[in-house]
Amino acid sequence: MIKYRKFNFVILLLSFAILLFTIQCLGQDEPDPAETEVWEPEPGIVTPGNGTNPPSDAIVLFDGSDLSQWTDDKGNESKWIVKDNAVTINPETGKLVSRQQFGSCQLHIEFRTPIEIDDEGQGRGNSGIFLQGKYEVQVLDSYENRTYSNGQAGSIYKQHPPLVNVSRKPGEWQMYDIIFNAPLFNDKGSLKNPGNVTLFHNGVLVLNHVELKGSTVFTGEPKYEAHGPKRPLELQDHDNPVSYRNIWIREL
Ligand code: MG
Repeated sequence: MIKYRKFNFVILLLSFAILLFTIQCLGQDEPDPAETEVWEPEPGIVTPGNGTNPPSDAIVLFDGSDLSQWTDDKGNESKWIVKDNAVTINPETGKLVSRQQFGSCQLHIEFRTPIEIDDEGQGRGNSGIFLQGKYEVQVLDSYENRTYSNGQAGSIYKQHPPLVNVSRKPGEWQMYDIIFNAPLFNDKGSLKNPGNVTLFHNGVLVLNHVELKGSTVFTGEPKYEAHGPKRPLELQDHDNPVSYRNIWIREL
C-alpha cells in the first residue's frame, strides 16, 4: 500500500515537472511584445490649430496683418495689397518672395480667385505657389473653366495634373495643404534625389507623392538646376488679382 502511494507521489512529481518544463518552453517561444516597442525619441508636443489656424510649431508667414515676412522680387517692400485679413496681388508689381528660406516643408495656404470673370483658361485667377522659387503648384480658377489638365488648379504646372478637380466657385476661399520633400543635389551639381509633392486641395488628396521632373517651365521639358538645400517660397504675379490668407509653414 505504501509502495503504491510512493509510486503515485512520483507520478505526481513527474507530471508537475513536465508541466513546469512545458510552461517554460512555451514562454521561450513566445516573443515579448515589448521587444518591438519604440520609446525614444518621444515625439514633441504640438498644440493643434483650431480649424485651419496654425499649430503651435508653425512659422506664420502671413496672419492677415502685414507683409513683414515678404519682399518683392527685387528685395524691396511688396506693393501687393493687404486688406481685410488677406493679401491681394497688385498686378504687374512682381511676385511675393519670403524672407526666410525653406527646404522640405508642410505648407498651408488659402487663396481666393477673383469673383469678376473677364477671361478664360489660363487667364482666369492665375497665380501659383513656387516651392523653393522653382516648383509651381498651380493656382487657377478651375471652376467650370477648362484648360490643359496639367495646368489647372492643383497641378504641378506642366508636370502632373491633379487626381480630381476640387475647385470652389470664384470668390470663395479655398485651401492647399502641401507636403514638399525638396530635391537634393550632389556637390558637383548632379541630382541626388528628386523632389516630390503631396497636395490636399480643400481637404481632398489631388497629388499623391508625385515626383518633380525639374524646375517649372512654360515651354519645353522641365529639368533640374542645382541649388542649395533652402530657398525662399514665392507667390506668382500672373496679372490676376488673386488673394491669399492664413499662410503657415512647418519645416520638415
Ligand atoms: Mg500660375
